[in-house]
Amino acid sequence: METENIGFIGLGNMGHPMAKNLEKAGFPLSVYNRSPEKSEDFKEKSIVYNQMPDLISNSSIVFTMLTDDHAVRAVYEEILKSDIRGKLFIDMSTISPQATAELSGAVKIKEASFIDAPVAGSTGPAAEGTLIIMAGGEEKDLQRAMPYFEKLGKAVKHLGENGKGIAGKLSINYFLSTIYQGLAETVLLADKLGIERTSMLEIINESASGSGATKVKTPMLINNQYDPAFALDLMLKDILLAKNAGADFPLSKVLNETYQAAHDNGFGKDDVIGIINYLKK
Ligand code: NAP
Repeated sequence: METENIGFIGLGNMGHPMAKNLEKAGFPLSVYNRSPEKSEDFKEKSIVYNQMPDLISNSSIVFTMLTDDHAVRAVYEEILKSDIRGKLFIDMSTISPQATAELSGAVKIKEASFIDAPVAGSTGPAAEGTLIIMAGGEEKDLQRAMPYFEKLGKAVKHLGENGKGIAGKLSINYFLSTIYQGLAETVLLADKLGIERTSMLEIINESASGSGATKVKTPMLINNQYDPAFALDLMLKDILLAKNAGADFPLSKVLNETYQAAHDNGFGKDDVIGIINYLKK
């Protein structure tokens, strides 16, 4: 099999550990991040580019893991200026179905391939290589991506053509936003009723209502420490993406209002479960 040169753009909370897993697996890797300091610890084993076009021309497969539509569009504006024939682009960010359709179309016109492959799982699974990857794209491109996906995730779900990966991701994150608001409200009720927080969280986690999501946020709720693994603003982005994609349910209105108000009150940069601090006010 031909050796592929892998490029990775976007070394944030998720992208950094994901690119590290590709590096650890021994793939020929190059990385680029807008803020150069996040690339520092790739210098020993991988190639660090300060200019995005250099990464693009020296990679046959390019992963992107970026904040939102705006960030992905800005990066693809650069990508689309290059000769990209035959290359495969894999966007793992959570963005809108519209941006995904626009970018996959633009890439294909230039005789290259595109997979939307957003993920379920936060920074822990990103570091452990146990993400769940929801993919939209052609089967042959999925096969080409599979050796890398296997190092990033524990499951790859091929959901259909371009756009279906994003559709799956917006759906699961809708559920996640209900879990986090529900968890925060439950803990606040227990606080009010004089139940020790540690005990309440043990009960939740051992009961049928416990999940990976409740377990991963438990230390933050106990220690009252909300450094972002998944920033509240990113969840607000996903709630708005779901709304624009058709989420029109009793809960969607409430979720939208609550996360928006938490953002407006200055909690957007905290972890998503920091919504408890807004709800407490
Ligand atoms: P993050 O820590 O904020 O990282 C965002 C990355 O995007 C950084 O590398 C940032 O570069 C880059 N970026 C932003 N705007 C840019 C621009 N205009 N041009 C070039 N680069 C730009 O975010 P994250 O938590 O890794 O999340 C990344 C994506 O994964 C988001 O779509 C998020 O919704 C999704 N996601 C996150 C989680 C999670 O738990 N965190 C889980 C699943 C999915 P700088 O370093 O220069 O700012």
